[in-house]
Amino acid sequence: MLPSPPLVRIATHGLEPVEAVVFDLDNTLVNRQRALARWLLDQLRALRAAHGLPPADRQNRRRWVHEIIAWDRWGARDHKQLANRLVSTALDSILSPRQQAERAEQLAGGIRELPNHVRPDARVQQLLAQLAGQKFRLAVASNGSSDLQRRKLQAAGLAEFPWDAVAISGELGIAKPARQLFERVASALRTRPNRILMVGDDWRRDVLGARDAGWQSCWVTWGRTPPRETPAVWQVERTTDLLHHPALRRQLDQHRSGSHPECVEARHA
Ligand SMILES: [Mg+2]
Repeated sequence: MLPSPPLVRIATHGLEPVEAVVFDLDNTLVNRQRALARWLLDQLRALRAAHGLPPADRQNRRRWVHEIIAWDRWGARDHKQLANRLVSTALDSILSPRQQAERAEQLAGGIRELPNHVRPDARVQQLLAQLAGQKFRLAVASNGSSDLQRRKLQAAGLAEFPWDAVAISGELGIAKPARQLFERVASALRTRPNRILMVGDDWRRDVLGARDAGWQSCWVTWGRTPPRETPAVWQVERTTDLLHHPALRRQLDQHRSGSHPECVEARHA
């Protein structure tokens, strides 16, 4: 059983105070887009060299990476689709469809190298340290294989962080947006669902999944416009903007000054 840290309740207007913050991993704690861009460039270089083609010039390389990342739609494509796209667009059509398929088959497993391209982000580490310093319970809830997601946490310098819970779908056999996953995390955090804030970039899996489980949610927009159906309670452009979110800022300030009657420090038994 995980130890219970002391809690600080942060009241938000019209909402239950947030006691725990649960983060998605890809494109929330870790910049997967950037890691994918690095991996794609490595593959492009190697593929072209292997087939006797000159390196693509800088402008073409950038356009190529940008197009594949846009086509990937925030990780919506599987490894095989990504490899097919990569091969079919990287080699100036010098391979027959059959040769392309064979090459793509070989490359599909290579996406497992993606964690090697993840880099630590000092601003994310500062955010987590500050939230931990304010006694929030902190957790990760991520969809993906145990090996890949654990290696990404390691590469981002977050594996040793004193998380109160780490939930990875490949280890649990359930994935966001399934309600059971949110329930497992809430149970591990020993926190009421409506006092948990889910922070993630995926509207359906993170925002709607959390809402359906009775959690509060914060959408990491990356500049995207939210669908009309249900606005996220909170929105930030980047995860690291969370500390500057007016609602959190206000409550933290009120907590520090002790001026807010709702800001009650409490300890779990
Ligand atoms: Mg994500």
